[in-house]
Amino acid sequence: MNIHEYQGKQVLKQYGVAVPEGHVAFTVEEAVQAAEKLGTPVVVVKAQIHAGGRGKAGGVKVAKGLDEVRSYAQELLGKVLVTHQTGPEGKEVKRLLIEQGCDIKKEYYIGVVVDRSTGRVVMMGSEEGGTEIEEVAAQSPEKIFKEVIDPAIGLQGFQARRLAFAINIPKELVNKAVKFMQALYQAFVDKDCSIAEINPLVVTGDGEVLALDAKLNFDSNALFRHKDILALRDLEEEDEKEIEASKFDLSYIALDGNIGCMVNGAGLAMATMDIIKYYGGEPANFLDVGGGATAEKVTEAFKIILSDQQVKGIFVNIFGGIMRCDVIASGIVEAAKQVGLSRPLVVRLEGTNVALGKDILADSGLDIVPADSMADGARKIVELVS
Ligand code: ADP
Ligand code: MG
Repeated sequence: MNIHEYQGKQVLKQYGVAVPEGHVAFTVEEAVQAAEKLGTPVVVVKAQIHAGGRGKAGGVKVAKGLDEVRSYAQELLGKVLVTHQTGPEGKEVKRLLIEQGCDIKKEYYIGVVVDRSTGRVVMMGSEEGGTEIEEVAAQSPEKIFKEVIDPAIGLQGFQARRLAFAINIPKELVNKAVKFMQALYQAFVDKDCSIAEINPLVVTGDGEVLALDAKLNFDSNALFRHKDILALRDLEEEDEKEIEASKFDLSYIALDGNIGCMVNGAGLAMATMDIIKYYGGEPANFLDVGGGATAEKVTEAFKIILSDQQVKGIFVNIFGGIMRCDVIASGIVEAAKQVGLSRPLVVRLEGTNVALGKDILADSGLDIVPADSMADGARKIVELVS
């Protein structure tokens, strides 16, 4: 789960991570009041959306005086911001962060992630802050430094110091940077984050080490033990289809392609996306209906796939182990009747009650293309949508 920058900063502040002072605003009036409360000569008006790259897209404005705050707030609220992370459709700005303007001397990058290759939490740092870290990684990987953290003892002082020196934090500020990193690591672990990215971390003219941006992602499977974090969820920022899917306990992730996929089991779902790509197609989603799905759940899954206007065809790939093929078949038929089936549908069934399942599909009178194998199904659906 993702949260807004201003919320991320509030969470980090509880752990002693230094952040600039700021307030959230939902209206122009609130923005002006927030700026008055800050009372600093320079105020930054920042669009709050669940995407980065706002600076380059005109979503971060430096205002000198309340009049400028007012006009920037007017400009940004309600504006659809298109950044390299939002996709071409962009995201509408509904909240602003009104923050004290900082006298930036230099921008750095600090990120904490779960690293799959080491199976550990890794803290990364670079002196190339502000720009996208992917760009730095591609063009000058030698400028990214990493510390692999032992979960039993946490981020050690020497590791934080080594990282601070590697990214050339001024000597007299290394202690502040170390404190910053340790607080950031503690927040990451305590709150079950999957990403905590500070880009930029800045050193200011008066010798402060501050998080000027904050991107926190949380492991959704751990949210049951973080009611405070769950309360920060902003459904308006999330994909409607994903929200709908989560109500029915379906693992659904929207993608950019045009072939809707309905599969049981995460591994088979991944393999299905791979094989669609192998035959030259593009999956529109990842969807795992789970091991013991009911006909009702399958119906909902089907509706969610069809609600995506990008979807030009559907590939159902089910291996009935615990899941029975007749249940899946009934769900498909029910859903197709409810929402109407106007797009090609290829179904590959295998496993428990497969004959019964195939009979249900064949007797339904629906225009369903049966497939003998996963490869056969993938090839057929790619042909049908192209
Ligand atoms: P994004 O990553 O979405 O572009 P950031 O929060 O990183 O948004 O802001 C972009 C840039 O705007 C920063 O790199 C920094 O140079 C500037 N900026 C952001 N907040 C402030 C602030 N409070 N004071 C001064 N400059 C800021
Ligand atoms: Mg940033």
